[in-house]
Amino acid sequence: MSDWPEFAKCINCQKEKRMKYLTECTHCNQDVCNSTTCCTEFPCANKENIIICQVCQDKIEQKFILVIDSSKLQLLKGKIKNSTTRAKVN
Ligand SMILES: [Zn+2]
Ligand SMILES: [Zn+2]
Repeated sequence: MSDWPEFAKCINCQKEKRMKYLTECTHCNQDVCNSTTCCTEFPCANKENIIICQVCQDKIEQKFILVIDSSKLQLLKGKIKNSTTRAKVN
């Protein structure tokens, strides 16, 4: 059994930080700075807020948007439909 480390490295900016300045990414469970430059906090109705590090955001951004914002998805679908129609004209 080892002591809980006081410092850990942020998965996004790779800087060593005190644990109290870090939070855990809900997606990858890695330590990430508790700041908007390294992670984004999404409100969640049923559970604690979801923390997604920038690394995961890059990977899952599109999927995640589909999950959290179905109203914007409808707008997006409309845009895609329009652009597809134009593409077919070309
Ligand atoms: Zn992550
Ligand atoms: Zn960081």
